[in-house]
Amino acid sequence: MRYSIIGSGIAGITAAKTIRQYDTESTVTVFTNEFHPVGFYGRKDMLRQFSVNFKNTDDFLLDTHEQLEAQGIELIYHAELRVFPRLRQILKPHNIRQTYDRLLIATGATPMIVDAPGTHYIGVHQIRNGEDMLILNAWLPQLQQVGAAVIGGGVLGLELAHTLAIRDVPVTLIVRENRVGAPLLSEKAARLIENRLREDGVNLILGQTLTAYLSNDDKMLDGVQLSDGRLITARAAICAIGVRPNSDLAEDTDIDVDEVSGAIVVNEFMQTSVADVFAAGNCAMVDGQVSRNWATAAEQGRIAALNMIGQNIPYQPVFGDLDTVLYDLPFAYFGEITPVDGVTTWEWTDNASAYMQVHLKNYQVAGALLIGQPAAYAKELQERQQNNIETTVSDVEKLLMVAAR
Ligand SMILES: Cc1cc2nc3c(=O)[nH]c(=O)nc-3n(C[C@H](O)[C@H](O)[C@H](O)COP(=O)(O)OP(=O)(O)OC[C@H]3O[C@@H](n4cnc5c(N)ncnc54)[C@H](O)[C@@H]3O)c2cc1C
Repeated sequence: MRYSIIGSGIAGITAAKTIRQYDTESTVTVFTNEFHPVGFYGRKDMLRQFSVNFKNTDDFLLDTHEQLEAQGIELIYHAELRVFPRLRQILKPHNIRQTYDRLLIATGATPMIVDAPGTHYIGVHQIRNGEDMLILNAWLPQLQQVGAAVIGGGVLGLELAHTLAIRDVPVTLIVRENRVGAPLLSEKAARLIENRLREDGVNLILGQTLTAYLSNDDKMLDGVQLSDGRLITARAAICAIGVRPNSDLAEDTDIDVDEVSGAIVVNEFMQTSVADVFAAGNCAMVDGQVSRNWATAAEQGRIAALNMIGQNIPYQPVFGDLDTVLYDLPFAYFGEITPVDGVTTWEWTDNASAYMQVHLKNYQVAGALLIGQPAAYAKELQERQQNNIETTVSDVEKLLMVAAR
């Protein structure tokens, strides 16, 4: 059996390792278009690591090329591939075709750049891979002198601004909404994060959009213009306004792609609309949801692999390890977290480092968002949601009382 996987991120590598756990005979090949670092690396930890230290992209490595090879996983670098599912073939450069028996597409997603005049100036950028970190590192002395603008108030934008501030870059964070983290974070939750950013020295601008990238020599970025006409000096404008699934490989094939999200549609077994082609991670849509985080991508890669080897295991949404925001604040959410009719919202914050919001619907947990709280709280609440356990406001208060006191 020949297993081919396109994409060397967490979904693709988890799939490769899972196949290997059960099958040591077949060929497992991972194709990737990433060159730095050489191997499998911790994309989600790049910024955190950069905030404290950066030597080169090997800092992020989880498995070197050789370590993957030792596990029987062949890693091949190709920038341009095409797939022909009807022929069960991958077309490699120089018109070389390689056949597969089962294919996994795990190509992740690409960050979007704010569309405004001047996107071609050097300094207009995004952070997705090891090479982006090399670029950021090369620019660092200039950024420390001139400043940087980060566009986008989601978790990535917040951490980017935080990281640059830690690395002594005068940084302006530009957020379209009137609070960070919208719509996920409520006003109170957002204020807590905003206060932290201001303490870092971040110049936070809310309720503004970027309308133009500016350059004096029509080459290097010198600043950005905001919707109210303000000019912000910056040598880099780094966009963190969201990602678009990488589903180009499905073009001109019978593989279904969701028109709105651009993600490859899969069923609960992570199968696409074409036999023996699977998709997982940030490029895939399962049950109407497109994965946006590491833990989900890993689990989807695992489940895809189990089904590729013939087990019949449906994917269940996971609650990953509690994530963090601004690196040291535990951050978790699940289910419904925007108030709607028929939902009772319980909210508490100390305005400094802790925030909790729980939504109850028909005496059951509908969703929760916790910042700065131990993982156990979020896990317990989610277990209540998944098992439809009757829960009242008083139960929530009892459960979270220790933290709320
Ligand atoms: C800076 C940053 C910080 C983040 N922080 C967090 C965090 O704190 N917590 C969290 O949960 N998530 C975080 N994320 C998101 C998390 O990293 C992603 O959700 C996760 O990596 C998705 O895994 P994936 O395998 O689906 O895709 P990816 O990790 O994007 O991997 C896709 C792979 O496919 C390759 N590829 C794409 N197209 C092709 C092609 N045509 N041919 C060959 N190869 C191709 C790519 O080069 C890449 O190697 C962060 C992301 C970034 C960029």
